[in-house]
This record gives sequence, structure tokens and C-alpha cells, in this order.
Amino acid sequence: RPPHERTRSAGTRHLDQLLAHFGLGSRAQPLANWIDGEAVAGAGDPIALTNPATGGELVRYADAGEALVARAVTAGHRAQAEWMALTASERGRRMNAAVRMLEGHEEALARLESVVAGKPIRDCRGEVGKVREMFEYYAGWCDKQHGEVIPVPTSHLNYVRRVPYGVVGQITPWNAPMFTCAWQLAPAVAAGNAAVLKPSELTPFSSVAVAKLLESGGLPPGLISIVNGLGPSTGAALTGHDAIGKLVFVGSPESGRVIAETGARRLVPSVLELGGKSANIIFSDARLDDAVAGAQAAIFAAAGQSCVAGSRLLIQRDIFDEVIERVGSAAERIAVGLPEDETTRMGPLQNARQYERVMAMIETARQAGARLVTGGDRPQGLPEGADGYYLAPTLLAEVTPEMAIAHEEVFGPVLVAMPFDDEADALRLANATRFGLAGAVWTQNPARAHRVAHQLRAGTVWINSYKSISVMSPFGGFRDSGFGRSSGPDGLLEYSLAQSVWVETGETASVAMGYGSGR
Ligand code: NAD
Repeated sequence: RPPHERTRSAGTRHLDQLLAHFGLGSRAQPLANWIDGEAVAGAGDPIALTNPATGGELVRYADAGEALVARAVTAGHRAQAEWMALTASERGRRMNAAVRMLEGHEEALARLESVVAGKPIRDCRGEVGKVREMFEYYAGWCDKQHGEVIPVPTSHLNYVRRVPYGVVGQITPWNAPMFTCAWQLAPAVAAGNAAVLKPSELTPFSSVAVAKLLESGGLPPGLISIVNGLGPSTGAALTGHDAIGKLVFVGSPESGRVIAETGARRLVPSVLELGGKSANIIFSDARLDDAVAGAQAAIFAAAGQSCVAGSRLLIQRDIFDEVIERVGSAAERIAVGLPEDETTRMGPLQNARQYERVMAMIETARQAGARLVTGGDRPQGLPEGADGYYLAPTLLAEVTPEMAIAHEEVFGPVLVAMPFDDEADALRLANATRFGLAGAVWTQNPARAHRVAHQLRAGTVWINSYKSISVMSPFGGFRDSGFGRSSGPDGLLEYSLAQSVWVETGETASVAMGYGSGR
């Protein structure tokens, strides 16, 4: 038998059970889409998925294709009208009821995510909790989206209402599929829209399972549909559909550009949540124990496959050697293993393309003179059969700002370290990238902490912390990390438009020929 079938990673067998658990067919005949209240198989070309932990084939499913996308959009428009016919409070109650349908399925959802995405089971359990938080948070907003009355300088009463877009198209990546799906579905429906979401072709099932469970709690069938397939086929059918009112994209800058251009041709607005190359700045007056713990968690969590990964470590020169030594040895102690093992803290990379890209970037950096402190290869001591896309936590020093690895996103467990002399030098290095997603500063000097934070060109900045995020707080990029915001009230506002209504309150109508006249 081939090695992946001998492994003690029971991924393929588990996937069969999990698909059956969620009523999504079987490995032999998976139903990879949720459309108009029904699990359906795609009609297009087959897409083969590999088990990230073993390298063996996991499943094949059919690309959804244009006709299923069209069906989902049509159903979305019908369901959106039903949704908006309910009172705002009722929409909130239904969202809360929807999320209660996850109860009793949390472990199965976590396992489904873990098997397909290759993420440690402990991390996946946490992400199921986030799905719940997001729906509960935005359920509370349903009946709190108030307009305003504006004191216009005329005899009119002027008020503003929020109007949903109708059906929104959402496209998500493979690194945190279930999390990202709930992150965008919850504000979309809370603002009164229907949504058609296309997950990454590499991680199709968890979003389908979540949508199915949520809908069983009382959302109108068709309010949320999930279509699975490749970007250029199913993805392009969704972004190019002329009855989609807004596009929300989470993924790489390269694809983001294509999506925004597609929207722009029809004047459909978009939100782009793209990549990052976030700086983690450690000053010599920082509490070093915390900074070292933060530095390694910032990059090695999710095997570095996180948009906010702290992939650049900027260290004040006088503590550079000490920090490198401590982060390097912390990296070597991380338990790398099979995703389903409870003790695993870091799993494999998710797919072959990503693995090859990361390995090539390390090799190019080494040829350019970067020094490998630790990692760079398969980790030692992996269990038998763990023949998938494993890379040990990797730290590179003697990296210079010109090297590609210093400013391009790796999206893997690869940390590059550079020394700096003073605050100005730290900021120059930190801002020397086209990205602007996140960053952190470690110092015990509060004035410096805020000063540096305010000058970092990044959408999220942490002070003496890393990676804290909340559905309550806005998230998004500067520059090539994208535009628009997700989470919090800002994230909700992306899903509706302001409509200004003018009511004459004078005794006669004050209709004027020019702008700005009137009583
Ligand atoms: P990707 O851009 O390759 O794919 C993302 C999604 O876009 C997939 O669903 C893909 O099928 C789809 N797609 C690709 N081409 C398309 C097209 N022409 N039309 C329609 N859809 C298309 O990204 P990825 O490799 O899946 O994800 C990794 C990237 O995502 C990294 O850059 C990472 O930083 C970023 N990311 C950003 C955030 C954030 O919130 N800012 C969160 C997670 C990941």
C-alpha cells in the first residue's frame, strides 16, 4: 500500500464519516454545495484534494460551475425579500436561533476543518467558538442599525436609512475557512442581505456544513448559499454575475486585484482583505519573556498561514543575539505533528503549491546570504505516515531589506529577523513593504509604544501583545493589504448603503433650480 494509506492519520476514513454526519454525501459522492436549502453536487470538472498531513488523496468533488452559481443568486434574491419582510428584531432572533444549531456538532465541525485544512484539532475547536461569537455579535446589531435625522438648513426633514445591497458575493481562502465564512456571512445577513459564498477550492466542506446548520435554525432557504469550485470557473461566475450587489474578497493581493477589476467593470464595489508582511518590533526595554513568547506565537501559529502572521522580527541591536537565540530555541520546542493529535501545536502546510513556494523562498533567501538559525527542512520525529507538507519552524537571520523574503509574504512558518538602531530606524524598516495589515511593538515605555504604533502603516497594531482580534473591533488593511473593513460596526456598514430621504415640512414645496437653495 502507498505510505499515506499506512499512516495512523485516519483523515480519509474520518472524512467519510464527517460528510455522512453533516448529510453531505460520502467521499465517493460528496455534495460540495449548499444552494437554496439543499446539498447538491457540482456539475463541472473534478477537483482532487490531498490530505495535507499525509500527501495522499483525500477526496474528489465536482466544480460547481456557472449554472449552480446562477441558481444560488436567484434563490438569494427571493430569500432576501423574505428576510427583509421580517421585523429587524425577528431577524436578530433568527440569527441567534441559527447559531444554536451548531450545538452538539462543534466537535464534528472542528474535525472536518482539521482533516481538510490540516490544522491542529485544538485550533479548530477554537475557530468553531468564533463562528458562534460572530453570529451572536451581529445578531445583536439587527435591530440597532439606526438612521439619523440631519438638521439640514432648509424646511425639510432629512433622515438617513441603511439599505442592504441585495445579494452579496463572498470569496474566501483556505487558511481559516470556517472562521472566514462566518466572519463575512454574519454581518452580511445582519445588514439584510443574502450571501453567496465561494470558499477556497482546497477547503470546500466546512463552510457548507456551517451554512446548512445555520439555515436549519430558521434562516430562509437560499439566504446563504455556498458554491465550491476553482477561482477562474465558479469564482469568476460569481464575481461576474450581474445580480450581485457587492463583492467581498479575502485572499491574496494577486486574486484581489482580479476581483476588484471585475467589479469595477460593472461598478460593483468591493472589500478586499488581502495578505500581509507584519512587523514585530522589539525594543531593548521590552519585557523579553513576553516579547519572545509573542514573537514565536505570532509566526508559528497556523504554521504561519495567517494573514496577520508576525513574519518580520525587528530587534533592537543590543539585544539582537539574545532574542534570536531565545526565539530559535522556542521554535525548536514547538510540537509539530498530525493535525488530529491533541498535543500537536503546529501542523503541515495546507497544500503542495504552498509548500513548494515556501521552500523556494527559503532557498532564494539563503542564496542571497540569509543565515538559517533553525528549521528550513522537514521536522525531526514526525509520526509514521506524516508524509505531507511539513516544514519545521524556521528562523532566518542576516536578512537585509532588499531580499525578497524581507518584504514578500511567505505564508508559512518562516520568520525573518533584522536588527535596528533606534525608533526611526525601526519605523523605516517596518514600513518598507507594500503591505499594511498588522504590526506590533514591544516596549515598557508607554509614550514610545503609542508613538511607534501611530506611525506604523498597518490596519491593526498591538502593543505588548500579538494576534488579539475580536469581532467587535475593525479589521482590515492599508495599501496592498486591501481596503474596506471587517468586524465591528465598520464591518457591518460595508454591507449596506446610506439612503437620504427628504420630506418637505413647509407650507409650500421649496423646489429650487440650483443646489443649496431653499428655506
Ligand atoms: P487566493 O487569492 O489564491 O484565493 C482566494 C480565493 O479566491 C479562493 O477561493 C480562490 O478560488 C479565489 N479566486 C482566485 N482567483 C479567482 C478569480 N479569478 N475569480 C474569482 N475567485 C478567484 O488566496 P489563498 O492562497 O487561498 O489564500 C492565501 C492569501 O489570503 C494570503 O495572501 C493571505 O494573507 C490572505 N488572507 C487574508 C486575510 C485577511 O483578512 N486580510 C485572511 C486570510 C488570508
